Amino acid sequence: LTVGVPKETFTNERRVALTPQNVKLLRKKGFENVLVERNAGFHAQFTDEAYTEAGAQLVSREQLFKSTDIILKVRPPSEGEAQDFKEGTTLISFLYPTQNKAIVDALATRKVDSLAMDMIPRISRAQVFDALSSMSNISGYKAVLEASNHFGRFLTGQVTAAGKVRECQSVPKKESEGNNAFFLGRVLVIGAGVAGLSAVTTAKRMGAIVRAFDTRAEAREQVQSLGAEFLEVSVKEEGGGGGGYAKVMSKEFIEAEMALFMEQCKDVDIVITTALIPGKPAPKLITNDMVAAMKQGSVIVDLAAEGGGNCEATKPGELYVKDGKVTIIGYTDFPSRLPTQSSTLYSNNITKFLLSLGEENSFFLDIKDEVVRGSLIVHKGEVLPPVPRALPP
Ligand code: NAD
Repeated sequence: LTVGVPKETFTNERRVALTPQNVKLLRKKGFENVLVERNAGFHAQFTDEAYTEAGAQLVSREQLFKSTDIILKVRPPSEGEAQDFKEGTTLISFLYPTQNKAIVDALATRKVDSLAMDMIPRISRAQVFDALSSMSNISGYKAVLEASNHFGRFLTGQVTAAGKVRECQSVPKKESEGNNAFFLGRVLVIGAGVAGLSAVTTAKRMGAIVRAFDTRAEAREQVQSLGAEFLEVSVKEEGGGGGGYAKVMSKEFIEAEMALFMEQCKDVDIVITTALIPGKPAPKLITNDMVAAMKQGSVIVDLAAEGGGNCEATKPGELYVKDGKVTIIGYTDFPSRLPTQSSTLYSNNITKFLLSLGEENSFFLDIKDEVVRGSLIVHKGEVLPPVPRALPP
């Protein structure tokens, strides 16, 4: 069977689905023919020479779609691109089938068996294929770097020849910060799932004081184990809705957390929001009044921007400075902004997934397998009904 890797065509997408290292692995495991579109890895720093050395054949786009049995991609194909697949091809890619119904229908018409990386069940056995977590981890890391880029100071103190970088005078020191004579940037992370915990880790490594909030009780220990402060509200309500995911909280709880965020916004320098509830719009937690209460030069990064945003002032896909005071970053392509790393992790996920399908030396889709059935969106020309997940009510 021939495996093919086209160049991603989505605007500004810099990732590639397969690295040269994994070309080698696939060939060793029996997928001897690996076709890669010329320049497919260009933006992720994987050269055509590296693919050739790994044993891949470089081909044109036309040749790739004509000769490939299994296509590996990052982004869902466009409707137009779906027409390029030859009948009977298997596609493995992010698909987001509920948002991309027309694309799924086009794939069904072309009889393209389609496996969605975003629909792989989040069970222990499938953790190695979990590309959503790999990409969330990168988003959390990159969010802190972007915030720090647009924040006009160090996040931690320094003694330099030009003098000590001292504590910010305009902000009263908190008791919990002890006798630290240096300025320490304060970072608030809202939502401590995969992306949030990655942001906490990164901001801690950069020396900031980090606080985090989440509605799920289990997040407290995870945040504290990273050395950050876990914030709480007096209203007691469990936020777990099954399968590790969050549920929609009561009005009373949301009001209490928003009162907490108003106080925090006056104090912190950077706010990173990651709060999401599967299948629901992102909760609006940071209001325009809270943004107005922030200090001059503060930064908000809204990682929920694609789902509508946690911050009222977010403009999805954009970075702007609100009222000449607070930088608001609503980029929706954080993983693609760290393309070598995200391609490497995605490639590991998709390669392990591909190698798990079928049996040794024979590739087939075992529809009785929970992981295959959960991710299989189109099979033999039919759009399959989605497998119900452990979603909150
Ligand atoms: P997510 O991206 O869906 O949501 C991000 C976070 O936002 C969650 O932690 C959620 O609790 C929080 N949130 C929702 N509403 C909020 C509100 N009003 N205020 C504050 N926070 C709010 O979540 P995720 O990162 O995909 O992961 C969620 C959980 O699933 C984590 O516990 C993670 O460890 C677990 N998980 C398990 C597996 C696996 O077993 N294979 C894989 C990935 C994630």
